Amino acid sequence: MEHIATDRGRDHSEAEVIVIGGGAAGCSAAIYLARQRRRVVLLEGRAARPPQLSDLHSGEVLSPGSQLELRRLGFDPARPITADPLERWKLQEWDTVWQRWPDGRETADHLPGGVFFWQINRGHFYKELRKLACAGGVEVREGVRVVNLLRDKEGVCRGVVARDAEGAIFEIFAPVTVDASGRNSVVLARLGLRRPEADFRRAAYMFFFSELPGAPEAGVWRQYWFGGGTTLRGSLLAPRLYRFSFETSLTERDRWLAKFGRLPAPELFLAVLDEQAPDLARSFREATRLPHLLAFAPVGFRVASVTHDGLVMTGDAAGYLDPSTGQGLEFALRSGRLAARSIGEAFSRNRFDRAAFDRYLREREAEVQPIVRQLRLFLRASRSEKLLNVAGRLPPVRRAVLGQLIKTRPAILD
Ligand SMILES: Cc1cc2nc3c(=O)[nH]c(=O)nc-3n(C[C@H](O)[C@H](O)[C@H](O)COP(=O)(O)OP(=O)(O)OC[C@H]3O[C@@H](n4cnc5c(N)ncnc54)[C@H](O)[C@@H]3O)c2cc1C
Repeated sequence: MEHIATDRGRDHSEAEVIVIGGGAAGCSAAIYLARQRRRVVLLEGRAARPPQLSDLHSGEVLSPGSQLELRRLGFDPARPITADPLERWKLQEWDTVWQRWPDGRETADHLPGGVFFWQINRGHFYKELRKLACAGGVEVREGVRVVNLLRDKEGVCRGVVARDAEGAIFEIFAPVTVDASGRNSVVLARLGLRRPEADFRRAAYMFFFSELPGAPEAGVWRQYWFGGGTTLRGSLLAPRLYRFSFETSLTERDRWLAKFGRLPAPELFLAVLDEQAPDLARSFREATRLPHLLAFAPVGFRVASVTHDGLVMTGDAAGYLDPSTGQGLEFALRSGRLAARSIGEAFSRNRFDRAAFDRYLREREAEVQPIVRQLRLFLRASRSEKLLNVAGRLPPVRRAVLGQLIKTRPAILD
């Protein structure tokens, strides 16, 4: 970890809080802190650039809980929406879950009236969030990447070392730094905080297609269940744009690699489908796949400690479990809000040691633990073909699972 140096440029902004990362967690924390009249500088590593397919990232799903968090944040769901999917933040919404179970049974369930999941272009969604942050008084600097923390001899975080778009390195100081830089956080790496999570050692691949025989229609989320906890889910994101996510355990993936050889991800995907669902394999072989591809492994991880002297970690930088429930963004938005509340209290007491952020720790824990329990159960159940087939046959079981996904957890809404 770098100590404060004198031979680098120094940024003289009078920041009270530095936020690393202008994603869901970072914007949420920054906006709530600015509402408390704190001087916030948000550093986003990505520079503004023309839209591209990778902006879609994983074409993520915004759960009803995320939509609620966005409304609290003042994000207008009717923000401008253009025709080009690369130029818009909201792609489509769905309210029907179509599933094919391991025994071949097919079911379709509808969400209660008026409840929808949204799918987004994450690049644009984040741009809109950063605009909202700017309008709320946050100083947003795009194209500025944090490369290290600044810590004094006692290990207290005093600010960050950053690199701007021209490559100039400089230091910024503030009493509190919020790390919201996601799963590849520089802070996680530098402080060695990442820990494995046994149940969540999964691999995920995201494929995008422009043509797909038998493709899902608008408004429908498709999910195919295979043996060994493997699942394929996807939907139409925009005209001639489909996204499918293929997820499995690392054990299962290693078994395939041993069986089929070290094939590139798209070929491995087709080889597994040939074995598990030949009809689907035929459709995907005839499909036109777009070059953009995302791969994550292991998907889930835990973070040893999310509060430190002068430093608070939020969103994925504070740990991530599994995309099964589509609640990553919801949790990022909410943990940003909880962090801001606790940091506000630290300012009112003028104390920024680790214990000053205990409220955040408690509230985050109350939020995370039920989700961890629910996900563990869900993942274990999804490894059993028998249990999956029972769910396929029993509408109340399916309704109960969907009910969990659309729950908005009123206890934490105050
Ligand atoms: C396969 C997969 C599928 C998923 N699907 C869903 C889904 O459908 N729905 C859902 O809600 N969630 C989903 N998630 C989870 C979701 O993507 C994350 O939980 C969410 O993006 C976390 O938000 P965040 O703000 O913490 O981090 P991020 O979204 O990663 O944002 C971090 C920001 O920090 C910036 N940054 C990074 N490093 C630096 C640096 N050094 N300096 C400055 N800036 C930096 C990045 O450019 C980025 O803008 C999925 C995850 C995976 C792996």
